[in-house]
Amino acid sequence: MVRPLDPPERMLLGPGPSDVSPAVLQAMARPTIGHLDPAFLQLMDELRGMLRQLFGTRNELTLPMSGTGSAGMEACLVNLVEPGDRVVVGVSGVFGGRMAEVARRAGAEVEEVQTPWGRAIDPDDLRVGGHAKLLCVVHAETSTGVLQDLAPLRAVADELGALLVVDAVTSLGGLPVELDAHGVDAAYSGTQKCLSCPPGLAPLSFSVRAQEVLKARRSPVQSWYLDLSLIGKYWGAERAYHHTAPINPIYGLHEALRQVLDEGLEARFERHRRNARALRAGLEAMGLELPVPAAERLDPLTLVSIPDGVDDGRVRRALLDEWGLEIGGGLGAFKGKAWRIGLMGASSTRRHVTTCLAALADVLGRGGHPLAGDPLAAASAQY
Ligand SMILES: *Cc1c(COP(=O)(O)O)cnc(C)c1O
Repeated sequence: MVRPLDPPERMLLGPGPSDVSPAVLQAMARPTIGHLDPAFLQLMDELRGMLRQLFGTRNELTLPMSGTGSAGMEACLVNLVEPGDRVVVGVSGVFGGRMAEVARRAGAEVEEVQTPWGRAIDPDDLRVGGHAKLLCVVHAETSTGVLQDLAPLRAVADELGALLVVDAVTSLGGLPVELDAHGVDAAYSGTQKCLSCPPGLAPLSFSVRAQEVLKARRSPVQSWYLDLSLIGKYWGAERAYHHTAPINPIYGLHEALRQVLDEGLEARFERHRRNARALRAGLEAMGLELPVPAAERLDPLTLVSIPDGVDDGRVRRALLDEWGLEIGGGLGAFKGKAWRIGLMGASSTRRHVTTCLAALADVLGRGGHPLAGDPLAAASAQY
């Protein structure tokens, strides 16, 4: 006999998923209805309106793709790239590298603009001459905890004659995104980072210009499942069946977006700022180093160096087993060298910050790495 499901209770402070609020889980447990039921169609329209507010856009083609954030990335690239197109990608971590790989698989001639991990890309480095179809960047690089300022990028994209494509997976709902103000043509996100919803949907938005590029394709979109010219007809006025919408996950996203707007975007961003400030103060008081320069740090995700002689796996295991607390390990250049602590959505609270600092201090202290100072006092001083 297989025992009934009984997942442990965790405090999720990794790079996603983040803690999900009970109201979102309850929304997902409501009765499933048909994907063309008038009640569902109304919910779809409300959801799209809320997504536009979060993205800061008037884009008609704004909807949640079925699949996680990576499905959003793939959707942006396969709909806009045709074989032979030149695509410039800013790569400063895992997710920029992934965009480059997806674009290559779609047949693009990819030019990667590399920057050392833990730093933002200098916009001037993206001025690589000659026409490009797309300029792709990651707004919030979750593998390094680095924020890429979007403000200067429209001008660079214009020089290249390119559409500006932005990964907003870790920024949406935690940092201002403002697609229209920054002249972004295509952007995608995910539900399990700052939206605090279970993973499974990928909010996406295409500008009029991006839609024109899609319409003018010489070849059909290589992926039938992710073809936005077809999916747009289901989410638009025609309501034409393409694939069955994931009904209950969409209930969850509807509730999560409602909560974001109920809190207010500015208040939510300020909450993320305040808790990130307190976490950093606590970590530094413990004598831990934050490798990302202060001006480039991401509020939803903090990169912290693992001190010499500390066993990465042992510490994370003790946090999980003894404190029920999950933080992220390092990726790529930071594998075994840094931890990633996420304060995203419902996981960005003073309680999460304090518990995380106390747990880390406890586990490091017992492992023979006593602390330099008092992390809790340093964090409290920020509130
Ligand atoms: C998490 C993440 C992704 C991938 O999302 P999945 O939901 O894991 O598919 C892409 N880009 C960034 C910046 C991310 O943080």
